[in-house]
Amino acid sequence: MKLPAGSSSVVGIREKQPVLPQKGSFVGNPLAQLIPPLSGSFPMSQYFSETPSEISTGSPKQNFPPALLVLNAGSSSLKFAFFDAKNPERPIFFSGQAQGLGTGHPVWEFGKSFQANPDSSYFENGTSPKNHGEALSQLLAYALSRFSLEAIGHRIVHGGRESNGAVRVTPAILELIEALIPLAPLHQPHNLAPIRHLLQTSPRLVQIACFDTAFHRTQPMVNRLYGLPLEWYEKGIERYGFHGLSYESIVHQLEKNSPESIAKKLIIAHLGNGASLCAVEHGKSIATTMGFTPADGILMGTRSGSIDPGIVPFLMRKHGMDLDAIDKMIHRESGLLGISGISQDMRDLLGSNAPRAKIAVTLFVVRIVREIGSLAASMGGVDELIFTGGIGENSPVIRRLVAEGCAWLGAKLDHAANEANEPFFGDAQSAMVLRCIPTSEERTIARHTFRLIS
Ligand code: ADP
Repeated sequence: MKLPAGSSSVVGIREKQPVLPQKGSFVGNPLAQLIPPLSGSFPMSQYFSETPSEISTGSPKQNFPPALLVLNAGSSSLKFAFFDAKNPERPIFFSGQAQGLGTGHPVWEFGKSFQANPDSSYFENGTSPKNHGEALSQLLAYALSRFSLEAIGHRIVHGGRESNGAVRVTPAILELIEALIPLAPLHQPHNLAPIRHLLQTSPRLVQIACFDTAFHRTQPMVNRLYGLPLEWYEKGIERYGFHGLSYESIVHQLEKNSPESIAKKLIIAHLGNGASLCAVEHGKSIATTMGFTPADGILMGTRSGSIDPGIVPFLMRKHGMDLDAIDKMIHRESGLLGISGISQDMRDLLGSNAPRAKIAVTLFVVRIVREIGSLAASMGGVDELIFTGGIGENSPVIRRLVAEGCAWLGAKLDHAANEANEPFFGDAQSAMVLRCIPTSEERTIARHTFRLIS
């Protein structure tokens, strides 16, 4: 394949016609006016301290399986999963993550499928990636020696008001998404860094952005409004909601395996490091606990969740804290970590006898139970309560405490089923179905990517 001057040297990537954004999927962005684009101001050097090397893989091989790569870039990690580009519903080719990037202790970790992979020595013998750029280069070099890479799908936390689907990334689209960085400062810059890097180094590589906010565009306006002067809604201040790729994953699994549930009133509790709940009716988001930013709602690993807005001016006036210090406290020093003073990891808190750990766990549960009441009110009832995310999928204790808190709604636990992490753990007498469904945000992204390149 001969590439025109100035284009990517990446080999093995099939050329595609550009896929234009779907109508209404990313058309102008009111937040772009509200918040000046930050294009160029994000410190890319944090990621790509050395000039990014061209991704070179030697000679392209024939008959490689076509693959889609899904990337979820966080502050110190780069999670990835390779899917079959012919059918993203098939088992993942392999998945894993580079962890501890930028911390001095970077490591590759791989999913189970990797053990059977004949090329595992590729990473074991390779040097540990120092930063995101190295991790990405290693990953792509490996990918292109094994697969014919059709496209990369990225998780993007914030898509703003106009993103009601996934979209092919262009430099113009990237600028629009960058304007949303202040709304999700913990995630958005990290999500975007590999996209920008690949746009520069491999401009013909098809990249698809999938947004956590998109699922919630169906919320009725009344559930998106804050009680601020209405002009601010017009300027883009509204409840966007997040974790949409996870909620979409649950709804997709229900449509496939349990279609009778779709017409019911569902509350999905995504309980991970970040955590939120969503009221879903007919497969659509009706209301959710996160709002303008992913700091809203219940308390999380390090995020405070909702706080009285009056706390911010109080801290500034009475305690001389500036905005950066408050921002840091709300996003990185609060939640389970801030209350317990021990850890943001639920496993540590459940294993601790420290009084502060117990307070943190209790507050986490109490906030969830209160939000379930609120979300049930927004739908006029609840038929199924679905747990997902690292805590929701793995912690019988938290599920039990939440279910007990919902006894007034008729929730009744089957203790043995709950302890055994069974998919259904409600008692036959329970007024609502209690169930657990593992989420796969990666597969949701693969599905969108497949749809847009097909
Ligand atoms: P992220 O939001 O980063 O994707 P995860 O969904 O992986 O996070 O969830 C991470 C959380 O799940 C951590 O707080 C971790 O302690 C918790 N977790 C994982 N396994 C268990 C378990 N067996 N019991 C309790 N909590 C668990």
